[in-house]
Amino acid sequence: MKFISTRGGNERVTGAQAIVQGLAANGGLFVPEKFPQVTAAELEEMLALSYAERAARILHKYLDEYDEDGLLSACEAAYSRFEGPDPAPLVKIDDGVYILELFHGPTCAFKDMALTLLPYLLRKGCDLCGIKEKILILVATSGDTGKAALEGFKDAEGVKIMVFYPNDGVSKMQKLQMCTQDGSNVNVVAVKGNFDDCQTAVKAIFNSADCAEALKDKGYLLSSANSINFGRLAPQIVYYFSSYLDLVSSGQIEPGTPIDFSVPTGNFGNILAAYYAKLMGLPIRRLHCASNMNNILTDFLSKGEYDARREFYKTTSPSMDILISSNLERLLFEVSGRNGKLTAERMNKLKSDKVYKITPEEQAEIAKTFVGGWASEDEVVETVYDVFCDTGYTMDTHTGCAMKVAVDWFEKNKKDTTNMVVVSTANPYKFPQDVLYAVTGNDVRDSFKGIKRLHVATAMKVPASLSGLRDKPVRFNTVVSSDKMFDEVLKFVSE
Ligand SMILES: *Cc1c(COP(=O)(O)O)cnc(C)c1O
Repeated sequence: MKFISTRGGNERVTGAQAIVQGLAANGGLFVPEKFPQVTAAELEEMLALSYAERAARILHKYLDEYDEDGLLSACEAAYSRFEGPDPAPLVKIDDGVYILELFHGPTCAFKDMALTLLPYLLRKGCDLCGIKEKILILVATSGDTGKAALEGFKDAEGVKIMVFYPNDGVSKMQKLQMCTQDGSNVNVVAVKGNFDDCQTAVKAIFNSADCAEALKDKGYLLSSANSINFGRLAPQIVYYFSSYLDLVSSGQIEPGTPIDFSVPTGNFGNILAAYYAKLMGLPIRRLHCASNMNNILTDFLSKGEYDARREFYKTTSPSMDILISSNLERLLFEVSGRNGKLTAERMNKLKSDKVYKITPEEQAEIAKTFVGGWASEDEVVETVYDVFCDTGYTMDTHTGCAMKVAVDWFEKNKKDTTNMVVVSTANPYKFPQDVLYAVTGNDVRDSFKGIKRLHVATAMKVPASLSGLRDKPVRFNTVVSSDKMFDEVLKFVSE
């Protein structure tokens, strides 16, 4: 399988190269040249397989130069780090309504599904490309991605990871999660300023030939772990297949019956993976793209115009507080008939004018699968509370957005009996104060107090990775100004 750029041109690379390189040379995102197909017979065969076995099967269709046994061992190792026997369990909360829990990994959020596997895909990818250098992963984070990347890459062979976060731009809990990180190959540094300052400085390091040269002298090659990397996307395709198979094997649906997913969306990576699963032949009818108050995608889906000239809101579902959803570029590429030139024009227009339009034909093509919806802050609280009261199930605020969108859909389409899987992206204890407020109306200021009270209210198990945080020693407390970041990088690779 070869990969090409969403922005056209002649670049044509292997999966390993796409993962190691991250971004195409012309600034586009790597997409598979064609979508590998999974037949009904093959789906049936996969019914008996474990999650890791299903994952290796699906991944190998894209990454065919990786050997399947190696992929399987890597998947088994990655998903053995999850709590419980199934890394992506499906919970039935009502007739035809299920929750797909993707938060049982080391950092209690769905990004673990891919970031626990990415180190292997990257390291092995380097071997396949004949790259001898060690790898340095640099991450600028506003919170969650940094922690998930640290956990994924800690103690990975031949890799060092360094995370920069804005000193005043992350929550106390997030800071604690990162600064207590263990592992012999990790480093965490706070940067004076806000997230933009931090991200701009990291991007400058990536774009500097001098920095690359200085790192090469130390035996390191720079790489990133962000969500546009195909190595982040591919492992996310797996749980759409796996949850479908679980519905079939538990007798909830007949093989071949189409189902819907409702996905809490930010950068459009999670829901795009669902679309890729559909293009591979998985019987998916609709994908409900759920937003919070930052409802730019809802507007895009209904109007065919992507308009980022709007106010940015900080909400209780911070991982969805995004105005530029990078992975949407891959969808635009598909529905434009894989027109790289047109996709490049639109992305340039987004950069210069913060707005672009698609054609009515493209809009209709998107509407065949996607439908958008969003939840206000009050609606999130109400939905989390309603579900808790009606079913006893506790969900986090991001999942609350997706649930609200699913509920609205059934309100408007009362006769629709299609099974709906609501994708849950975070453990409720990751946002303890907001979930506690939704469930009990109580406001507490301290996260650990929130965890304790939420446990009393819901009796849900507290993940050890969160409750144990309080007693973990702080390992990292360096604070630098953004012009000193590369000095820290050099110090770190010289250790
Ligand atoms: C990252 C994240 C999302 C958004 O996923 P995208 O792939 O960026 O759309 C939603 N919820 C949680 C909890 C997340 O961490």
